[in-house]
Amino acid sequence: MIELDEARRIVLARCEPASPISFALDESLGCVIAESIRSTEVVPPFANTAMDGFAVRASDTAGASGSPVELRLVGTVRAGMSGLDSPVGVGEAVRIMTGAPMPPGADAVVMVELAQASADGLSVLVGAEVPVGNHVRPPGDDIEPGDLLLEAGAALTAAHLGVLATIGVREVSVIPRPRVGVISTGDELVDDGSALAPGQIRDSNRLTLRSLLRSSGFEPVDLGLVRDEEAAIEAALRAGIMSCDALVTTGGVSMGDFDFIKVVLDRIGDMRWMQIAIKPAKPLAFGTITRPSDGTAVPVFGLPGNPVSSMVSFELFCRPGLRQMSGFGPSQLDRPVVSAVVEEPLTRRADGKTHFARVWCEYDIASGTYRVRSSGAQGSHHMASMAAANALAVLPDGPTVSAGDAVRVMLLTP
Ligand code: AMP
Ligand code: MG
Repeated sequence: MIELDEARRIVLARCEPASPISFALDESLGCVIAESIRSTEVVPPFANTAMDGFAVRASDTAGASGSPVELRLVGTVRAGMSGLDSPVGVGEAVRIMTGAPMPPGADAVVMVELAQASADGLSVLVGAEVPVGNHVRPPGDDIEPGDLLLEAGAALTAAHLGVLATIGVREVSVIPRPRVGVISTGDELVDDGSALAPGQIRDSNRLTLRSLLRSSGFEPVDLGLVRDEEAAIEAALRAGIMSCDALVTTGGVSMGDFDFIKVVLDRIGDMRWMQIAIKPAKPLAFGTITRPSDGTAVPVFGLPGNPVSSMVSFELFCRPGLRQMSGFGPSQLDRPVVSAVVEEPLTRRADGKTHFARVWCEYDIASGTYRVRSSGAQGSHHMASMAAANALAVLPDGPTVSAGDAVRVMLLTP
């Protein structure tokens, strides 16, 4: 057996970041940006009001907090208007709506709640003295030309896209999300919804893995279900690398007589078959197959077939490797890890392996700590407890972890 860190090094060494390409903003959410962005624009582009109210000369409101001042209403500006033709003079005011440009002459806004327009609309009683600049958003108040808004390497969030849209950027250079083909293997598997014949089970891994890929921001490609036949597996892998940036397979990587993934991958690719000191997900057949058309070494993740093993293996190897291919840096490859207090004993035996226990993890506001308890049976085929878990507790080799002890926990959901 090899240690988890060693297996991860082997995998990550062969997951190269893709070359940047230009994407429309709308397609870029979650992608790693390959360029730093400085603003070429001023935001806001013009002085405007932050409130609905009345644009005034601040000096005209002197003393208005004690006894209201009456100003003559000489116009209205609404958002989208370019402004007013004549400036606001002494003793005058203009109705103004949020986002509208400040009319020339005015230097402050009195919010509508502190003023009362006359019934004929010809004047307004201002009930507050306001300073110059009151509720006025000056140009460049938010962003000035030359401001550094994004550094290369950031993963684009909704707010990033908003700020880019604000300064008129329409396309960005990003590392494209990998297209990842998913293949399940096994003569016992059916995936057409038919009643199970003796010896058959339903293929669940393919859907689970495609869903994990999608929720992790990659582009899944369904490459179907393949029988445990060497020629069929070889054909599926050879076809898969032509249209995908990486492949994920499940099943056929153990010691059985019909475990052909590792056999084929070894023959047509450059493979490391690993027995890793973890439970579940001990076997992993990881390798690359060279795409004949362009010489690219396409990573292939041969995951175990047991449903929970395939998911844990995905979390520990595929997701970090694919994130590295997506341009994420070393500190951004893994799910968040927190320290949590164990509520009930997490049972295990010393066996030379790190265990990844399915748990439910909750943040307890009163004590300011994360707390975990087992989500159920821990066999590698026990999918129900995986579905009931939101985290994996990392149990170092050794005996049962007692209630009250602290463990590291990998959070699987936000
Ligand atoms: P294998 O890794 O092929 O030896 O499979 C290990 C176990 O996982 C066996 O009990 C398989 O029936 C089961 N299994 C393999 N592939 C799948 C799949 N796609 N969906 C659900 N169970 C599977
Ligand atoms: Mg099998």
